[in-house]
Amino acid sequence: MPWKITGHELQIERFRKASRCGRLASTFLFVGPAGIGKRTFAEQLAGALLCQRSTADTLDACGNCTACQLVAAGSHPDLYLIAKPIDKSMLPLELLIGDREHRMKSGLCYQMSLKPRMGQKKVAILDDADHLNAEGANALLKLLEEPPPGSVIVLISTHASRQLPTIRSRAQLVRFQPLTNQQLAQLIQDQGFAESAHQALAMARAGRGSIERSRQLCDEETQALRGALHDALVQEHWRAQDLVETVTSYVDAAGKDAPPRRQRLKNAIDFVVEFYRDQLHIACGCAVINQETRDEEIVPAGLSDFEYARCIDHSLRAFGHVDANANLPTLTEWWLNELSTAARPPRGA
Ligand SMILES: [Zn+2]
Repeated sequence: MPWKITGHELQIERFRKASRCGRLASTFLFVGPAGIGKRTFAEQLAGALLCQRSTADTLDACGNCTACQLVAAGSHPDLYLIAKPIDKSMLPLELLIGDREHRMKSGLCYQMSLKPRMGQKKVAILDDADHLNAEGANALLKLLEEPPPGSVIVLISTHASRQLPTIRSRAQLVRFQPLTNQQLAQLIQDQGFAESAHQALAMARAGRGSIERSRQLCDEETQALRGALHDALVQEHWRAQDLVETVTSYVDAAGKDAPPRRQRLKNAIDFVVEFYRDQLHIACGCAVINQETRDEEIVPAGLSDFEYARCIDHSLRAFGHVDANANLPTLTEWWLNELSTAARPPRGA
C-alpha cells in the first residue's frame, strides 16, 4: 500500500532505497518548517517498518495486518511517540527517562531499551525535538550512542542548528521541503478547511507550504484581516494609524491570553510580508501570478523593488520581536509606522 502522505516523494524513495540495500540507519533527524508533514512521514515510516507483511524491498505497510491496525490506532507496543505538551515550553525530562520515582524505569529511553514485543523492530518518534533542553539531550545521547538492535529513532526538528552537535553527529539528516501551493491547496480541500478551490489556493499561498499555518489563517476574521490589509496597502496613501487600529482590534479579539494574541500579530505581519513579496515578484518581472494563482488579480502598489524589499525587511524584524515577547501594542505601532515610511519614500529624491 502506498504511503498516505502529500509530497516528499524523494524522501520516501530515499528510505526505500536504503532499506533495499540493507543500509537503513538507526537514528534520523527530520528537519524542515513546521506543519509540512514531517511527523506524518515519521508515522508512515514507522508503519512500514512495523508492518508484518512489509518487506525490506518495498518498505510499504499493508494496512491490514495486526501491526498496521495497532499503528493506526496509536497503540502498537513497539511504537513510542513523544511530543512537547502544549502547556510546556520544553520537552519534559520524564518523557525521556521517567519521573523522579521511576528514573530509567519509564519514558522513551527505557521503552527503547526493551526487546520488541511483536516483531523485530522498535520505533521511537520524538516530535518537537527543538524543545529538548540540555538535560534531555544528554539523556537521549546514551540511547543514540548505543541504539538497541532493530531500533529506529526519529527526531523531528525545524532546523538542524536547533540540535546539539552531539545529537546531529549521531543522526542521519533528512531534509523536508515545504509543500507546493497545489499540493497544499489539495490537502486543505481534502481536509474540508476550504469551501472552494479558489479559497483553498488562497489559504495555501498564505500557508507558504505549511498545513499548520494554513489552518491558523483559515478563519473568517483572519481572512477578513488579510483582505483589509491588502486593500489598504495597494493604495498610494495609507495611514499607519488606520492599520494600527485594524490590526489592534484583530489582536484584541483573541482575548487576554498572550499566545493567541501573539499568533494574531504574527498572522498580520505574515499577510503584509506576503503582500510585499508578491509585489516584489511583479516588480522584478517574476511570474508570481503563475498558473496556480492566475485568477487572483494582484494590483501593483507602484513602489520600486528596493522599497518592497525594505517593507519586507521591516516586517520580518517586527516578526522576530513578537517571538521575543515584545509589548504587542508598542510593537504594532512601531512596525506600521516604520512600514508607512518605508512604503512612501520621498518622491523625486
Ligand atoms: Zn501490515
